[in-house]
Parts: sequence; C-alpha cells; structure tokens
Amino acid sequence: ETINLNEFFNYILDRFDMMFKTDNEAAGSDNNRVQPLPSSRKKHYVIKREITKRDLWVEVDQDKFMQVIDNIMNNAIKYSPDGGTITARLVETHNHVILSITDQGLGIPRKDISKVFDRFYRVDKARSRQQGGTGLGLAISKEVVEALGGRIWVDSQEGKGSTFSISLPYEPLDEGDDWDEA
Ligand code: ATP
Ligand code: MG
Repeated sequence: ETINLNEFFNYILDRFDMMFKTDNEAAGSDNNRVQPLPSSRKKHYVIKREITKRDLWVEVDQDKFMQVIDNIMNNAIKYSPDGGTITARLVETHNHVILSITDQGLGIPRKDISKVFDRFYRVDKARSRQQGGTGLGLAISKEVVEALGGRIWVDSQEGKGSTFSISLPYEPLDEGDDWDEA
C-alpha cells in the first residue's frame, strides 16, 4: 500500500506513549488482577519527536513495516535503563526518507555491531534470555527493509546508546510540473 510515513510513524509513537501511560496507571492501581507487564513495558521512557511536518508517501506493506518500527522501539526500551529518552526522527533527503530511533541505553560493543542483524544473534546471551525474545527482530527488520529497496544500519557507542536508522527510496510528488520536461 501507499502510506503517509509521517502520519504512520506518529501513529506508532502515539501507541508507545499510550502504552507507557497505561503502565503507570496499572502500576498505581490496587487492582492486583492486572497482568504482569513484560519487562520492556515496565520502564519509564520519554519519546522526543523530531519529525518532518511534510507528507511523505511511500509504498510499504503496513503490517510488516509496523513490525520493523515496533521491534526497534521495543529494543530501545528493552536495552535501556529506566528513565531514558528515545528520540524519533524522520527526515527527507532529495530521494530518500530516513527514519531513525536513538536511545540512551547500553549501546552495542564494537565487535558485535556487524552481527546484530544476524538471525538469533544476541549480544549478551544471559541477559537477553532473561529479557525474553528470540533474537530474530532485527534479522526480520533487515529483510523487510531490503525488500523495499531500503537500508537499515546502526551507530552505537557502548555505554552511551544506539541509533538505528532506516532509509527508503522516496520520490517526492512534484504536483503541477509533471508535463514540463517533455
Ligand atoms: P526479539 O526482537 O526477537 O524479541 P531481540 O530483541 O534480542 O529479540 P533483535 O531485535 O534482533 O533481537 O536484536 C538483536 C540483539 O541486538 C539484541 O539481543 C541485543 O543484544 C542487540 N540490540 C538490539 N537493539 C539494541 C539497542 N537498542 N541497544 C543495545 N543493544 C541492542
Ligand atoms: Mg528485538
């Protein structure tokens, strides 16, 4: 489908903002029938948005692309200590859109950086097991992004945090001058 990436990204981030609020309410209530929350959702986090106001129409499979962003957001929460800020950015270059998510978490050691997109690869096996998950999230994300002709990569500093970025090919709609070049 063709979606407006700007609106879509904001919508996903709204859901993460809401999840956090719901958790706070659940934590503050005496209702002990509330389900225990997965560890990634027990944390305090603030999402800062640096998102273009422009409509960015791109051709993606909504469900799959949502999984990609969900995984990167969940990782940002899961692999960060409590109270971090997550910065979500969306910018447009002349023929790409670049979406990135920066956390203030554990970061990824240099030797592991090239492997985090491999199937089942997890940096800290013991800790990862305890956190839950399979180690497939980023491998699947890479497949989805590359199938769209895009790229996914990470910049990270151990102990400081990570930025996961996705670039997708993008052709701006130049309404009005479609016929000028003939
Ligand atoms: P799953 O996504 O299947 O639930 P997972 O989150 O462990 O499990 P991936 O999303 O593929 O798997 O990530 C692979 C590994 O990369 C993680 O186990 C973790 O070691 C590392 N990693 C991913 N995102 C981050 C991050 N934001 N900060 C630090 N390490 C990360
Ligand atoms: Mg994951």
